[in-house]
Amino acid sequence: MNDNKSIRENIRLRFQQFLEANDLRQTRERFAILDAIYDIDGIFSIEELADILSEGKFHVSRATLYNTTLLLVQANLLIRHPFSSGAAQFERINGLQPRSYQVCNNCHRITLIKSRSLQTALDTYHPRSFDITHRIVYVYGICGQCERALHKKLKNKNKNT
Ligand SMILES: [Zn+2]
Repeated sequence: MNDNKSIRENIRLRFQQFLEANDLRQTRERFAILDAIYDIDGIFSIEELADILSEGKFHVSRATLYNTTLLLVQANLLIRHPFSSGAAQFERINGLQPRSYQVCNNCHRITLIKSRSLQTALDTYHPRSFDITHRIVYVYGICGQCERALHKKLKNKNKNT
């Protein structure tokens, strides 16, 4: 059995159950949006999601897109990242697979952290009386590029005074 296919079916089932439990309609649009989201590997904005859907010749209104992403966040199938840049950024929840990110306070650039020790720490954390749905760690700081730009700016300032 195709593993990816069974994960996809499981996700669709979870969304279906969520919609049923909340007396919400199971529309073709909602499931098309879910499918498009699960084709994206990594972080995306609503604009990027709209582009992907229209490339696949599937047109949904911005309102439907916003509403559905909100529902998917509530259903624990989608993460809305708390980054402080302009547009909201989303990412599908990858089961219990931990994800960790570095976020630059200055340019808001986001980088996936590939640290085995951090991964292991998250993997082995099993709290009592708490059912984990997903694991995400954010590390905030200043990226190398911003650090260098700031350094250069300071150097030029000192030269002029
Ligand atoms: Zn930066």
